[in-house]
Amino acid sequence: MRMVVLGGAESGVGAAVLAKVQGFDVFLSDNGKIKEEYADTLRKWDIPFEEGGHTKDLVLNADEVVKSPGIPETAPMVMELRAKGTHIISEIEFASRYDNAKKICITGSNGKTTTTSIIFYLLQQAGLNVGLGGNIGKSYAMQVATEKHDYYVLEISSFQLDGCYDFRPDIAIITNITPDHLDRYEYNLENYVKSKFRLIRNLRPEDCFIFDSDDAITIDHLSKIVTKAKLLPFSQEKKVGQGAYLEGEKIIVKYERSESEIYLRELALGGKHNIYNSMAAALAAKASGIDDAVIRNSLMTFAPIEHRLEKVLSVKDVLYINDSKATNVDAAWYALECQTRPVVWIVGGTDKGNDYSVLTDLVKTKVKAIVCMGKDNRKFHEAFESIVGKENMTDTLSAEDAVKASARYASAGDVVLLSPCCASFDLFTCYEDRGRQFKEAVRHL
Ligand code: ADP
Repeated sequence: MRMVVLGGAESGVGAAVLAKVQGFDVFLSDNGKIKEEYADTLRKWDIPFEEGGHTKDLVLNADEVVKSPGIPETAPMVMELRAKGTHIISEIEFASRYDNAKKICITGSNGKTTTTSIIFYLLQQAGLNVGLGGNIGKSYAMQVATEKHDYYVLEISSFQLDGCYDFRPDIAIITNITPDHLDRYEYNLENYVKSKFRLIRNLRPEDCFIFDSDDAITIDHLSKIVTKAKLLPFSQEKKVGQGAYLEGEKIIVKYERSESEIYLRELALGGKHNIYNSMAAALAAKASGIDDAVIRNSLMTFAPIEHRLEKVLSVKDVLYINDSKATNVDAAWYALECQTRPVVWIVGGTDKGNDYSVLTDLVKTKVKAIVCMGKDNRKFHEAFESIVGKENMTDTLSAEDAVKASARYASAGDVVLLSPCCASFDLFTCYEDRGRQFKEAVRHL
């Protein structure tokens, strides 16, 4: 069997190593440059590869292809493979063929990394032998090739799901669905929603589906499909039978005959969105048979993740918060929503077709000044200048200047919040780069 892997980064290299371990004739091809650490891994495992272009003869003779999630369907090599009828799968689909571990899998528009990380922590605290993978850290395929775990907690993007067919989680979570990445789905929300729901299509009656029942898009799609799985909704708006909901200052978690309570004030992560994430995580843990005491204690002690409402530093009694991962409007909505002090808001970057009108009310009530950090800030001015006032809005082209401008607007007791609503590629290499430059600038104030 000849297995060709397209793309030589974390996911592709993991898939290639697994193919090698499983005895395939494997070849990896990358249109761009392969990072040295990945090339080293391929050499170490004696896997032939090419970079800087695809040699058709070496790719088109594949029996099956593993495509990395970053490569779009419109890439010429992919289109040629499709025309030939070659089966193309994702790394997750491939790795799951060789793995019997219990899998808790998380997808959604926002909150994937947070929810995945909380669940991983919870399972670790419960003493289980658990691997963390998917979009986070080491690839799932590499772990299946070289490690042995009883559980996996996997963060799965819709791009990975597009190449999944027989893949089946034991517990599936869709955190929420809001428009994002529509450029990859022909600007059709329905396509994007269907892609997310691929996560649950093979669930059996003993498997669980955990979802946000306050999310209109999720509920609408769920009403149109049939699933055999146990449904475990979570909600902050209404009581649910099985699942999680709010009762006063407590989260109630109900799974089968057991019921447990978690006080909101005990949660380590603040904000309404993190109540959702904590509910999803608690449900996954409960469905995995973990003790209430471990669940409560883990939710109390979980350490915040970098770039997600991360408190950086207080300077002159102004708190600086790094939420660089807020690359869409919904994420920024939650970041503003949970602020209790006047906000100087740093926004901007590469616009993905955003509609800022949903933020109007929050800006009216919470934001005193806006510092744009991007090459094209027109839409922000159009949306917010009349609310905060022309004199309270300015444009900058670097993290350093944005932080300095924010410091001028802020008074003691305020918050400076980087929650940009946009991708970072106009001024930075990625959202991590943006977040780190922001933090660096704050430390130099
Ligand atoms: P993802 O992995 O899906 O991008 P993250 O956990 O990395 O999600 O969070 C991305 C951004 O979205 C952060 O700015 C975070 O504060 C915000 N966020 C986290 N959870 C949620 C949620 N449940 N709903 C909306 N926004 C969220």
